[in-house]
Amino acid sequence: NEFVREEFSKGALRNKTVEDVLTPLDKCFMLNANAVLDFKSMSMIMQSGYTRIPVYEEERTNLVDMLYVKDLALVDPDDCVPLSTISKFYNHPLHFVFNDTKLDAVLEEFKRGKSHLAIVQKVNNEGEGDPFYEAIGLVTLEDVIEEIIRSEILDE
Ligand code: ADP
Repeated sequence: NEFVREEFSKGALRNKTVEDVLTPLDKCFMLNANAVLDFKSMSMIMQSGYTRIPVYEEERTNLVDMLYVKDLALVDPDDCVPLSTISKFYNHPLHFVFNDTKLDAVLEEFKRGKSHLAIVQKVNNEGEGDPFYEAIGLVTLEDVIEEIIRSEILDE
């Protein structure tokens, strides 16, 4: 019945974490901050189909900015503007969550905040040095909603 179903999907949100639903970093479409916005790279961005694209410096785990595809509206590919000029100009804030954040908590955060995308971080304590936070992927509202729908279908 309705009540059982509601409790079930709440359960999925309470028990699952962002790590269960994220898009892993190696599958993310991202751009190097030193890329140049020419015809080739702008076509690639358009063809990716994503609306938000993380920008990294040096290493893919070092995310520094977020490019929104709409930021490109006034960019002329003939000007070959550096990507970092555009991403620093718009300066969209980055939102981070930890890998063990429960889906209900991240859903609340998405509802409160302006952005519906967060970068997932995990403590890396492999190796000799001190532990540090490392980006392991990204999670969006869409990933959370997909999990809600999935759990409701399993319940049928
Ligand atoms: P979009 O608005 O760009 O279509 P959504 O928020 O609808 O993004 O997310 C759709 C799926 O794509 C989700 O699984 C999300 O994790 C993933 N996703 C979002 N942005 C990227 C990106 N830049 N690279 C790879 N996957 C992404």
